[in-house]
Amino acid sequence: MAESSPDNKLTLRIFIAMVLAIPLGLLAHSSEAVAGLIPYVSWLGTLFRQMLLLIIYPLVLASMVTGVVSLGDIRHVGGLVGRCAAFFAATTGIAVVIGLVLVNVLQPGQGVDLGVTAGAAAPELAHQSFGEFFLAMLKNTLKNPFSSMASGDVLGIITFGLLLGAVLSTMGDEAKPLRALFESLNAAMMKLTDWVMQIAPLGVFALLLQVVASQGVDALYAVGRYVVVVVVGLLLHGLLVLPTLGWTLGGVSPLRLLRGARTPLAISFSTASSSATLPVTIEMTERELGVSPKVAGFVLPLGATVNMNGTALYEAVAAMFIAQAYGIQLDLGQQVLIFITATLAAVGAAGIPSAGLITMSLVLNAVGLPLEGIALILAVDRVLDMLRTSVNVFGDITGAVVLQRWEAPEPSAAPSS
Ligand code: ASP
Repeated sequence: MAESSPDNKLTLRIFIAMVLAIPLGLLAHSSEAVAGLIPYVSWLGTLFRQMLLLIIYPLVLASMVTGVVSLGDIRHVGGLVGRCAAFFAATTGIAVVIGLVLVNVLQPGQGVDLGVTAGAAAPELAHQSFGEFFLAMLKNTLKNPFSSMASGDVLGIITFGLLLGAVLSTMGDEAKPLRALFESLNAAMMKLTDWVMQIAPLGVFALLLQVVASQGVDALYAVGRYVVVVVVGLLLHGLLVLPTLGWTLGGVSPLRLLRGARTPLAISFSTASSSATLPVTIEMTERELGVSPKVAGFVLPLGATVNMNGTALYEAVAAMFIAQAYGIQLDLGQQVLIFITATLAAVGAAGIPSAGLITMSLVLNAVGLPLEGIALILAVDRVLDMLRTSVNVFGDITGAVVLQRWEAPEPSAAPSS
């Protein structure tokens, strides 16, 4: 079919937008005259991101309900949930270990000038204990679905969608209209995603331009070795670990996986938001990688919210970096604590920009590191956020591909009703 051709053209246009935005952003960073032009384009970025945000919440609910209903039997849901949780936990664990090994070997925090934090306002972070963290998670997970929808609380929407889908799958004809309603809503949201993607190149251009113009590259030098460790770790995980898992467990070659994921990767890089990317992630994973709507509809919304390989890796490296910069030695036991808390902090982080920076307080708290240390890494956070978000999304896509194979070893047929 000639269907892949419009996608290829769109990807090419997004890629060109990215390539153009970086030098122009750097120019704007150094020239006030060019910077003055940015407000004329930045609204396009806002328009694109807001359009995606507009789709997410109904889409998450509809795809979750439809996904669970199409599993047919509620007992299968348990199996899929279990396998999904195991895959997510294992890949997140691997990511954290990569981060911890690199940060211990390369010691990026040694000899860092703590003065680079001067002028950077430390974000307002509350001390949060484990108990408080779990309680907050529980309250976010089980709550009034209308309030979850209104406040954009994806975890709450997912839980409600899961339960609603489960109960609908056990009911007979009396639940038919509701099942059809969610299926139709799901299809409509996917169609809307297609429409919104038409402005993706402009949106991506404007979003990237703004970031590069406001950040420049100076900040990267001050904590350069930390940036290198995070980037190397993310690349190792994204280009080696995940493609290998996709290949060995999911039966999809690394090239095909990366090709299929290219559009969601570009969108997640420029929006720094797994949630905002979700509509595109679902669409492309189904269309380009042949994952069935039932697996994609279940695994991807869940993954966008709780499975954050990149964020977990980054949290562990950042905490160790802060410890090294402050000259605080962390023994093996404390590093195990960092492993656990970085994993949890990534699960707790929402799929929005800078969410990982906020949940970092959990990791720092657990090992008694100073929260002010966050000011050290503030200036470079946006750039790293873009990259870690891409790894987060790629982790979800790899998970969907692997779970698809585990669910139905043969290529999936059309979704059952
Ligand atoms: N921005 C990331 C995401 O949306 C979360 C983070 O801040 O690490 O996946």
